Amino acid sequence: MCEFCMKHGEGKKWYLEASNYSEDLLSDVRRQKFLVNFFSETDKLEGALNKFEKLDKAPWLVKRFVRWRLDRFFRKNHHGQVLPIEDVEKIFGFTNSIVRFSCICRTVMKSKEKRYCYGLSMGPQGGKFAALIDEVVPGFLDGPDSKGMELLSKEEALAAFKEHEREGLCHSIWTFGTPFIGGICNCDRPDCIAMKTTVTHDIPSMYRAEHVAQLDPARCTGCRQCMRVCQFGALSYSGGNKKVAVDARRCYGCGICRAVCENNAIHLEDRSNVPAVANLW
Ligand code: SF4
Ligand code: SF4
Repeated sequence: MCEFCMKHGEGKKWYLEASNYSEDLLSDVRRQKFLVNFFSETDKLEGALNKFEKLDKAPWLVKRFVRWRLDRFFRKNHHGQVLPIEDVEKIFGFTNSIVRFSCICRTVMKSKEKRYCYGLSMGPQGGKFAALIDEVVPGFLDGPDSKGMELLSKEEALAAFKEHEREGLCHSIWTFGTPFIGGICNCDRPDCIAMKTTVTHDIPSMYRAEHVAQLDPARCTGCRQCMRVCQFGALSYSGGNKKVAVDARRCYGCGICRAVCENNAIHLEDRSNVPAVANLW
């Protein structure tokens, strides 16, 4: 279990703890301010990426210090973790409303793709989370294909996530003032700012899942469909045995490779059962 499970989940998965979605948490003024700034100052997100590119060329001591500061900031304010679709389904089971809106990263990156983030709430109609965004950034909750807030049933939301999975998008859950959880994103490397920050610039804002992929070589035919969708470069092909292998240290445990493998050669294992990565987040 990661440090967030210990701190905010009583030793179980922290994002399956209903109190972390509580409307009461959003009564906190500091948390509200962070949320409002996050959605209204999108130019800062774009600026951050430019700064990270410059940081890549900085002396290692500077990099180390800035990385440490940012890591603390993300843990406190906007922490993300990859999660598999079975956990998404569990979350949909106990939250009371799901709102779909334009993906903030793709808005910043000016991507033309139709991609979505999903706001979660224990309140009705997207709760205080959606109300705050709607108040400060009118129109942000307009869906890419619709005007106005898109309220989805649990069945509609789950069907949409299955489709995102087929498209090769990785699910990740996010806090706005940890431990308050505001929503789930569907990420890919070209457009996701958090993924770029974490994987490309080595500044952790998105953590690995509580799981890691394990591959059964006896079932693998070497078709390489899984390699096509892995956003983290965790899969490699060997011409020797004509099979794919998982690099557990690179694997974020999203399960997208599992979704595309027609031979059921991949499953997700609890990270704690794989000693080499049991404490790697
Ligand atoms: S998709 Fe499945 S069968 Fe194909 S290479 Fe990957 S693990 Fe092997
Ligand atoms: S190997 Fe599979 S589970 Fe691991 S990061 Fe890649 S797609 Fe996700």
